[in-house]
Amino acid sequence: MSRTAVITGAGSRRGIGRATAHTLAAAGWAVAVLDVDEPAAKDAAGEIAAAHGVSALGVHCDVTDAGSVDRALTAVEAGLPEVGALVNNAGITSPTRFLDVTDEEWERIFAVNVRGSYLVTKRVAPGMADRGFGRIVNLSSVSAERGGGVFGGVAYSAAKAALLGFSRALARELGPRGITVNSVAPGLVDTDITAGKLDPDRKAAMVADIPMGRTGTVTDVADVIAFLCRPESSYLTGVTYDINGGSHIH
Ligand code: NAD
Repeated sequence: MSRTAVITGAGSRRGIGRATAHTLAAAGWAVAVLDVDEPAAKDAAGEIAAAHGVSALGVHCDVTDAGSVDRALTAVEAGLPEVGALVNNAGITSPTRFLDVTDEEWERIFAVNVRGSYLVTKRVAPGMADRGFGRIVNLSSVSAERGGGVFGGVAYSAAKAALLGFSRALARELGPRGITVNSVAPGLVDTDITAGKLDPDRKAAMVADIPMGRTGTVTDVADVIAFLCRPESSYLTGVTYDINGGSHIH
C-alpha cells in the first residue's frame, strides 16, 4: 500500500531533508516536502517526482506556527495517500556562546527545533494512531549528547537534547498504537546549516578526530532514517541512532 512520508525542512538543496526525501521516494513512499522556503519545497518535490516516479508535493510550512502547520498538512492529506511517516528535520543552529546568547536567539532556536517538531507531530500523530501505523523520526544531534563542541552552542545542544526526551516519551506512549518514534544524532554533516561559518582549521581538527576520517554525508543520515521508516522496523522504538563516524562512542 502506498503511504506518504512527510519531511519538514526538505527544501534545502544540499540538506539532509532533501536527501531523505529522495531515499524514501526511492523506497516507494509518496513524499510531502514541507519548508518555510516555498519555492525550494516545490523544487524538491518536482525533482523527486521526476527522479523516482512517485507522487510528491511541495508545500509552504513554517513549523513554528500551528496555523501554517495545519494548512500544510490539510493540503498533504488532500493531495497524497495517507501519512505513514514523519521526519522532523527542519532545524536551525547557532554557535553563540552562553554568556553572549540573547533571549530572542534562545527562543528562536527552540521554536524551530523543539516547538516545530511538537506542532507537526501533534498534527500528524492522531491520524497515525487511528490507522494503527506510524514512523516518526526526530533529528537530534551529537551536540545533544556531548554538550556541543561541534558547531552549535548551548541553545542548539539544549534544544536537540529536548528532542531526545520528546522521542523517548512519545515512543512509550504511541507504541501501543503501532507508531515507532526514534531519533538520529548526526555528527558534522556538510550542508548549508552552518552558513559557511565553520572555521576551516576547526573543521580539519574535527575531521582528524573522526575514526572514519571524514565528515558525514547527507546520504549517511538519509539511509538510517529510511531504515527506521520501513514497516519492517517495527520493533525499534525509543532509540537514538548515532551517525558520527565514531567521533562520539559512548
Ligand atoms: P539545512 O539548513 O540544509 O536545512 C534546513 C531546512 O529547514 C531548510 O530547508 C530551511 O528552509 C528549513 N527551515 C528552517 N526553519 C524552518 C521553519 N521555521 N519551518 C520550516 N522549515 C524551516 O540543514 P541540514 O544540515 O540539512 O539540517 C537538517 C537537520 O539535521 C536539522 O534539524 C539539523 O539541526 C540536523 N543536524 C544537522 C547536522 C549537520 O551537521 N548538518 C548535524 C546534526 C543534526
